Amino acid sequence: MLYGAIEAGGTKFVCAVGNEKLDIIEKVNFTTLSPKETMPQVISFFKKYETQLSSIAIGSFGPIDICPDSKTYGYITSTPKISWQNFDFIGYLKTKLKEMPLYWTTDVNAAAYGEYIDGHGQGYSSVVYYTVGTGIGGGALQNGKFIEGFSHPEMGHMIVRNHPNDYFKGNCPYHQNCLEGMAAGPAIEKRIGIKGQDLPEDHPFWEIEAFYVAQCIYNTTMMFSPDIIILGGGVMKQVHLQTKIHHEFKKIMNNYVDLPPIEKYIVFPKLGDQAGIIGCLGLAKKIASF
Ligand code: ADP
Ligand code: ZN
Repeated sequence: MLYGAIEAGGTKFVCAVGNEKLDIIEKVNFTTLSPKETMPQVISFFKKYETQLSSIAIGSFGPIDICPDSKTYGYITSTPKISWQNFDFIGYLKTKLKEMPLYWTTDVNAAAYGEYIDGHGQGYSSVVYYTVGTGIGGGALQNGKFIEGFSHPEMGHMIVRNHPNDYFKGNCPYHQNCLEGMAAGPAIEKRIGIKGQDLPEDHPFWEIEAFYVAQCIYNTTMMFSPDIIILGGGVMKQVHLQTKIHHEFKKIMNNYVDLPPIEKYIVFPKLGDQAGIIGCLGLAKKIASF
């Protein structure tokens, strides 16, 4: 039996088919355009496997509607990407792939699940995953289940304190200086005029970035005391940030609680950019076994 995975990102879509061992058999990437242009590419990829597929899991950018009783379950809801606003993602897949069992969650939940089953989260019961990229999103797992209620968490929009030397006002259209407004890739570029990937390692801004990410970890620790916090996404490709984040986090924590060894507690993803797609394959396998 085969399983399908769709990582629906705001920048690119990744579709994959994997086997029982979650080894990837085929994978394709394409740029996220409008649903009219992008969704037929998704369908044509899966059509050739349709009879062999047990299920497909989707990890999508959001916000998305995950409430099974809601009229708009399976929709991407209030995204700033206009052509995707109120797009009925699951409804579309159901009309094209008729009997296919589908699992619907956020892109970060999928990545959290990937790390939980096959990455640094393996063997732990409580795992939190953040992505720091075009936006900031977080997913939290407790005993294999996602933490959610009326909707999925939006941890990237937590409120943070401003760094005393940071005069940037923040660029979140809803909250201005929330975590995403201060520390996601576009906030770096807007503040400094240079993309994060082009900013040298010794630029003083990285201390400020670490200060915000450390607050995120502090808040997460105080709320969930998870076993591990995994930091992914483009901005976290700055490997030198890890020590800076550890340092800032220890300062904020001020020895208030005994923590797991910090190098094991705050880590970068073992699966790298594959966390989301492996997570989707794992979720597809999980629903197929019910
Ligand atoms: P997305 O969030 O769109 O899925 P990414 O996680 O790659 O994609 O995030 C893209 C953002 O991360 C951009 O704002 C980009 O400038 C920033 N970024 C990408 N690579 C790096 C890097 N190596 N260092 C710092 N910032 C980066
Ligand atoms: Zn915000």
